[in-house]
Amino acid sequence: MEVRVRYAPSPTGLQHIGGVRTALFNYLFARSQGGKFILRLEDTDRTRFDEAFVQNLYDTFAWLGIHWDEGPDVGGPFGPYVQSERFALYKEYAEELVTLGKAYYCFCSEERLERIRKEREESHSSESGYDRHCRSLDPAEAQRRARAGEPHVIRLKIPLGEVTRFHDHLLGDIEWKNDDVNPDPVLLKSDGFPTYHLANVVDDHLMGITHVLRAQEWIPSTPLHVIMYRAFGWEHPEYCHLPMVMGQDGKKLSKRHGATSIDEFRRQGYLPEALINYVALLGASYEEGKDLYTLEELARSFSLDKLNKAPATFDYKKLEWYNGQYIRMKGDEDLARESLPFAKESGLFGSPGKDPTEAQWQRYVAAMPLVKERANYLPEIPQKLGYLFAEPPLPAKEEFVPKKGDLATAVVMLERLRSLLPQMVSQSEAESEEMVKTYCEKEQIKMGDLMMPLRVAITGSRVSPPLFGSMRLLGLEVCTQRLERSLSYLKA
Ligand code: GLU
Ligand code: ZN
Repeated sequence: MEVRVRYAPSPTGLQHIGGVRTALFNYLFARSQGGKFILRLEDTDRTRFDEAFVQNLYDTFAWLGIHWDEGPDVGGPFGPYVQSERFALYKEYAEELVTLGKAYYCFCSEERLERIRKEREESHSSESGYDRHCRSLDPAEAQRRARAGEPHVIRLKIPLGEVTRFHDHLLGDIEWKNDDVNPDPVLLKSDGFPTYHLANVVDDHLMGITHVLRAQEWIPSTPLHVIMYRAFGWEHPEYCHLPMVMGQDGKKLSKRHGATSIDEFRRQGYLPEALINYVALLGASYEEGKDLYTLEELARSFSLDKLNKAPATFDYKKLEWYNGQYIRMKGDEDLARESLPFAKESGLFGSPGKDPTEAQWQRYVAAMPLVKERANYLPEIPQKLGYLFAEPPLPAKEEFVPKKGDLATAVVMLERLRSLLPQMVSQSEAESEEMVKTYCEKEQIKMGDLMMPLRVAITGSRVSPPLFGSMRLLGLEVCTQRLERSLSYLKA
């Protein structure tokens, strides 16, 4: 049997960590089984629907590099894959359940339902939901009223006094007393729109879905779905409710903990590889003693048997570590390209939004080795490199002063450095290290005393990316000019 799984988001919000984890696990499971991964848009809730959320969904998964085999944009043999384009179908199936005696017409008005809610509240009744008022209507009579155009909904007739059992791949056997299941939920609304339950079950069946991997918050709906499958006389798919994702305080991951929408992570300078790698570990394990996985490696070793029952904890520090790792693994040109939007935005090439000239681009690429080892987020890259593209502002004079020295020491050191500059910019960084070391030993001076004023003169700051590498990129003319500028500034 071919495995067919789906990601079935409702486009009522931005794509966030939880949704992406669900999509990713479905994707990995399909890949690991040689099966199909399907995208289905569950847009039955038209009041909360927004086209922008659909666009966000496509953008997010394109950025992550996760593709589906069937879906609204790529088509497939079971389409349409958008529920709002299937409304006629759901009505037919709801009517079929009525004919089978498994569902019934309910003519209760909003006012009546509201009155019951109020009465129960006032009498502190423990009952909730629909009171099954129309369940006992004579079917022929109900049929006649519906045909005559009386407004109605269709409700599922939950068999009372029974127990619904199903198996969850992760959680084991689950039992639910039917009397505790949502009392006779609406399947079809009075405007003919389906509810989530009806559309979800009908589509999973018609689309040949074999496994439902979804968040644990859907467990209370599952007995209801199982009851519907049985009412139709269909097999239900295998269920696997995924482990919860918590913040570090043990509460469900939410805005309070930090970024949760993928857009935000993207804006903060995370790489898609890092997010995928980290999210794939939320509730699942792969190989022993390995942290870094490509999407292909994850797909190869993903297994439902290696899911954890315990909730997963989302650790922003850990994600940062992953991001740093992937930044270090990138080739220079790649890293330059990925960080370019942040560089442009920061005005690195002249003014905010400006593209680099060819020469600036070459320099930017060449500067990647200077920052790769220390950056954990993409925006840090241009932040660290400003002095390579513009003369840095002169800092306060004290900044030039080496430890235990004074302004005079700084001046003397910079004067001594004049003769060393030509070599520093032409030879390799290792050769420059060596040269400075030998020079300092011979002259009996501390290396820090010599280098600190130079670093400040060249980069404008006491902390900077590796100095010799930077000087090689800037060239002799610029380095000399910055050194002289600092000298006249300090002497003035
Ligand atoms: N449309 C539901 C959601 O927004 C789908 C749940 C399910 O996978 O059955 O998550
Ligand atoms: Zn009713």
